[in-house]
Amino acid sequence: MPVEPHPVTSASRLSRQFTRRTLPAIVALLVVASLLALLSLVKIARELDAQALQQSEFFAAKAIENRREALARSIVDYAFWGDAYRHLVGDIDLDWAYQRQNLGSTLYPDFGYEAVLVIDDAQRTRYAVVEGELAQTDARLWLQGGLTQLLEQAQSASEDDQGAVALLLADGEPAMVAAALISPGGDPSVSLREESALLLFVDRLTPAKLRALGESYALDNLHVPPEPLRGQTRLQLQLANGNPLELAWRAPEPGTLLLRQVLPWMAVAAGVLALLSWAVLRNAIRSTRQMDASYRQLQRSREALQASEVRFRDIAEAASDWLWETDEQLRLSYLSGRFESVTGYPAHNWLGRPLSELLAGSEQSLENWIKAARPGELRCTYRASDQHLRICRLVSRPVSRRAGGACGYRGTVSDITEEVEAHRRIQHLSQHDSLTNLPNRSQLCAFLDERLASRQPLAVLSLDLDRFKPVNDTLGHAAGDLVLREVAQRLCARTRDEDLVARLGGDEFILILCGLTAQEGLERFCARLLEELAEPYYYLEQEIFVAASIGIALAPQDSQDTQELLRFSDIALYQAKADGRATWRFYAAEMNRRLLQRRQLELDLRQALAENQLRLHYQPRYRIEARQLLGAEALVRWQHPTRGLLLPEHFIALAEETGLIQPLGQWVLREACLEARHWPDDLVVSVNVSPVQFSRGNLLQDVRDCLAESGLPAARLELELTERVMLEDADGAWTTLNELKALGLRLTMDDFGTGYSSLSYLRRYPFDGIKIDRSFIDKMTQSSGDRSIIQAIVGLAQALGLSVTAEGVEDDQQLAMLELDHCAEAQGFLLARPQPAEALRELMEGSSSLS
Ligand code: C2E
Ligand code: CA
Ligand code: CA
Repeated sequence: MPVEPHPVTSASRLSRQFTRRTLPAIVALLVVASLLALLSLVKIARELDAQALQQSEFFAAKAIENRREALARSIVDYAFWGDAYRHLVGDIDLDWAYQRQNLGSTLYPDFGYEAVLVIDDAQRTRYAVVEGELAQTDARLWLQGGLTQLLEQAQSASEDDQGAVALLLADGEPAMVAAALISPGGDPSVSLREESALLLFVDRLTPAKLRALGESYALDNLHVPPEPLRGQTRLQLQLANGNPLELAWRAPEPGTLLLRQVLPWMAVAAGVLALLSWAVLRNAIRSTRQMDASYRQLQRSREALQASEVRFRDIAEAASDWLWETDEQLRLSYLSGRFESVTGYPAHNWLGRPLSELLAGSEQSLENWIKAARPGELRCTYRASDQHLRICRLVSRPVSRRAGGACGYRGTVSDITEEVEAHRRIQHLSQHDSLTNLPNRSQLCAFLDERLASRQPLAVLSLDLDRFKPVNDTLGHAAGDLVLREVAQRLCARTRDEDLVARLGGDEFILILCGLTAQEGLERFCARLLEELAEPYYYLEQEIFVAASIGIALAPQDSQDTQELLRFSDIALYQAKADGRATWRFYAAEMNRRLLQRRQLELDLRQALAENQLRLHYQPRYRIEARQLLGAEALVRWQHPTRGLLLPEHFIALAEETGLIQPLGQWVLREACLEARHWPDDLVVSVNVSPVQFSRGNLLQDVRDCLAESGLPAARLELELTERVMLEDADGAWTTLNELKALGLRLTMDDFGTGYSSLSYLRRYPFDGIKIDRSFIDKMTQSSGDRSIIQAIVGLAQALGLSVTAEGVEDDQQLAMLELDHCAEAQGFLLARPQPAEALRELMEGSSSLS
């Protein structure tokens, strides 16, 4: 499910954008606007200033002009006047002019003219009133800067009834001087004269007057600058002689004034604005930062959420989980994408249907479990679209959207079929034998423990294959494995479901029979089982025969303990084997006692070997024909400290089983060879050799050592072997026998007729003779069959060039019959019993009498 953009996040993005971009832009705009305003203000101010300057220049010009015109008008009024002509041209009428105030001191206070001058044709000053006082002033000296030019202009202007006004310097100070030719001014009563005169008004432009003039024209501080000063507004004027004269005033600066007045407020406003912006910006930045932080936080948690979602999805997908959601009635309202690939069903087929229609709880009702809202998981099964039964694990949580009560459920389903299967396999492997797939010891014990705990009667059968080892040795392990598997199958076929068949390893099997404990039934069972196991096994078209022995222990009669029952059944098995194999025995307390005795015997035998309790008896062998002594067979005896002299039947098998046969055999061989040395040169000593000595020991070396030690010629040593030697390791026996033969000794096959009596053995192996088993001799006088067997054996041996000895001859009739049947040699109580060495020696000494 993708994450919807959160409204808060988009709002915060907007506000961040606002703070990041818009707000600074607004501030920048404000600054620009303020600058523009300032600029335009300055421009306006400068324009204002420029305008004011223009205006003031205009006013300045105007002021001078007006003053000039006023002066011009005044001078015309006074100069073009008949009375003035009468009293001033020619001779000056001081009385009229000065005393009667026609052209006297009043001009100064009334008009501000500093001087009134009358100059004649010769430019002599005839009348001068300076600052209201009659004065002897020479205008030519007093007025500089073009008086002559002015007077000329006034001469010429008089033709138009005009005066002339010009700027001159009076005592170095500028002065506006008006000059006009005095004329009758249209007065008919005046008679014209020859001479003429000019009237001059001098209006000195004193600093005070200039300032006053300026003020009336709004020109501040109008003055004549002492020297050209920069930055001051000035008016260029000319003196009458053309020299420049400058007037300056402080230029009006309304713009500057405006700026001066507005700028501080503007600055204050800008400052306030700046402060405000700064505060707003800072606030905005701070809140943006906060927003950023929380946005990043949000982003991070969103990313974390997304990551965890992705992770969750990955896990969910990888774990082959699918997610589900249902309403209150457990009707499916949502199924995740994995559903289809895991179950093979399209999700839409299931939406709206109850979850319990798809899944079934293994141990309890799915519906109850989900509604009980217990923690943990429920194992369920369902049938996938391919109709295979699948196992899964369901996890569920109530979904509560309203307060109180679930309004639905959701959870996951993980397919654990493979996991369960694997677990089952591992468990099976740990509890089963990999070769036969039967339960192994651990499962056997668990099974027994459980059954015994419920006090159920049962039978424990220990089963061991007879002659299994040769199968492995001669045909290889593949054949052995095949036999074991086949045996396992036959065992399973015989037993019922409640029983258990286990393999403990090697060729040992255990059967637990739960329904069958009566002796009779068990005997029938064992008989049939042994029959079936004896049926041939086929390996590469080769027939293999294997038999089995069974030991039986019963619960609760024999024991209620697992280990004890197994031990007892094993003891019974041992007994069965001891009793001739291919049979069964029930455990009896007697067996246990015997077994314990055997243990003791074993310990005793070890001791016997160490303490030299063994003895050798010798039984002579004769040629029947002349009763000639041929040699003697060494037969071992045990002088037991408490039980007396024990015969081999009590300890040879035990020695073979425990490996003690090795040192025992060596001892016999050595003892026999040493004894035979004392015998006459033509007598042979026969030594019985166990098959175990063949297979495990180093018989060849033992024989060599004994011959070397005793000095007995090899030809005087005979080894008696049974067919078991060949049966257990045919090839090994062949090699060893040939090596022994190569030493020069004799080899005899003992107990002939009891085993396979295989003709091929006699042909293949380097035997010198055979001994016919005692059992045939025993019965030969009563049974014609046994006698004919003896006859056949004798015939066969002769054909093969082997000597034949009849064993266990106990009466004359037997001896006579053997003689008739051409059996050359005999041995038996009739002829001589096994006897100690000394007795034999005595016998040998007197043997000449026998022959
Ligand atoms: P075996 O090789 O067949 O030895 C002959 C057995 O027949 C001897 O029994 C002997 O006492 C007995 N016997 C001889 N003549 C007569 C008779 O006329 N009537 C009866 N009823 N029995 C007679 P023994 O000494 O008890 O030996 C039993 C078996 O023990 C031997 O059978 C042999 O297989 C084994 N054995 C004896 N000594 C040794 C030994 O040193 N090494 C090995 N490996 N086996 C031995
Ligand atoms: Ca023998
Ligand atoms: Ca024998």
